[in-house]
Amino acid sequence: ALHEMVQKLRGNIRVFCRVRPLLGSEGTNSGSVPYAFPGENPDFTSSVLVTAPGKGSSTREREYDFPFDAVFGPTATQADVYGQLAPCVQSALDGYNVTVFAYGQTGSGKTYTMEGYPECGVEAIGMIPRAVANIFERAAAQAELGWSYTFEASYLEIYNETVRDLLAPDADAAAVELEVRMDRESGETYAAGLTWRPVAQAADVDAVLALARTNRSVGATNMNARSSRSHSVFTLKISGAHAENETAWSGKLNLVDLAGSERLAKSQSSGERLKETQAINKSLSALSNCIAAIGKKASHIPYRNSKLTYLLKPALGGDSKVLMFANVSPAPSNMQESLCTLRFATNVN
Ligand code: ADP
Ligand code: MG
Repeated sequence: ALHEMVQKLRGNIRVFCRVRPLLGSEGTNSGSVPYAFPGENPDFTSSVLVTAPGKGSSTREREYDFPFDAVFGPTATQADVYGQLAPCVQSALDGYNVTVFAYGQTGSGKTYTMEGYPECGVEAIGMIPRAVANIFERAAAQAELGWSYTFEASYLEIYNETVRDLLAPDADAAAVELEVRMDRESGETYAAGLTWRPVAQAADVDAVLALARTNRSVGATNMNARSSRSHSVFTLKISGAHAENETAWSGKLNLVDLAGSERLAKSQSSGERLKETQAINKSLSALSNCIAAIGKKASHIPYRNSKLTYLLKPALGGDSKVLMFANVSPAPSNMQESLCTLRFATNVN
């Protein structure tokens, strides 16, 4: 009953949890794993049970039950996860705006889920290539019915509240800060000067991802550290038309790998680090405030409080579909951060 209630309140928002497997040494010296996945199939259930050690001097364990629309345990494959995502993703082909976020601490599996690590094999291919390939397939199947589609992709990064084009043609262009503007007529926001690359097949998308990887390293001394402190937004713009009845429409699919949510203590950071911390805190809380306001059908949605929410304004409100992954690590040493992530994700409605 609780799950049904949560579902109703959320409307167009769906929240999934994904618990990655233990990695390397985490599996051997970290004690017992505090997660349980009730139900017949542990790869797919709707709540995650967490047993946390007592607080302070208390030795009494605390138990939490976090309800989600779907929970994927450590053995769920990328194909299992995409299977749940597919119906939502496919509605982008019908003209909806669909946005998928990955939220969680650094190392929890956000990039594995969204972009994937294809160099680690076919199984490690993430949601971006899977979603796009699935959309291409469906579009091709509809060609005989008279529908024709064109696709364009963009990829941008938001770091310290500045937007950069990850598909810029060269290093100079990649360093340019893009402005987020509002179209006066439609009220839609967009990144001015962002590259939109026509894509028609899976290989085009692989090329887009490879270029983004190259551009991400521009000006970054440590690419991994930098990408964990920035949000990256991949967008597929879909334009559809019907040959006979002269109808045309467009939809957008946004796949967002958010900056690491770990609580970066302000007292311990200074200079550049403090600035990064403030930018991340600001944008992640702006995102949860917007989603909460949309869920409550509030008359004012505070999109302007961060670049991320302002830019994604057209993709969050109205009849847009929003899906969020709460990515968590199963390691007991990550317990506190995992609880923060689970609370954040179960509170966004
Ligand atoms: P994040 O982007 O949240 O910082 P990553 O996606 O880079 O985290 O994941 C951290 C590490 O865990 C990577 O080495 C990745 O390959 C691995 N990993 C994450 N999720 C899974 C999973 N579901 N199955 C196998 N390995 C995973
Ligand atoms: Mg990452």
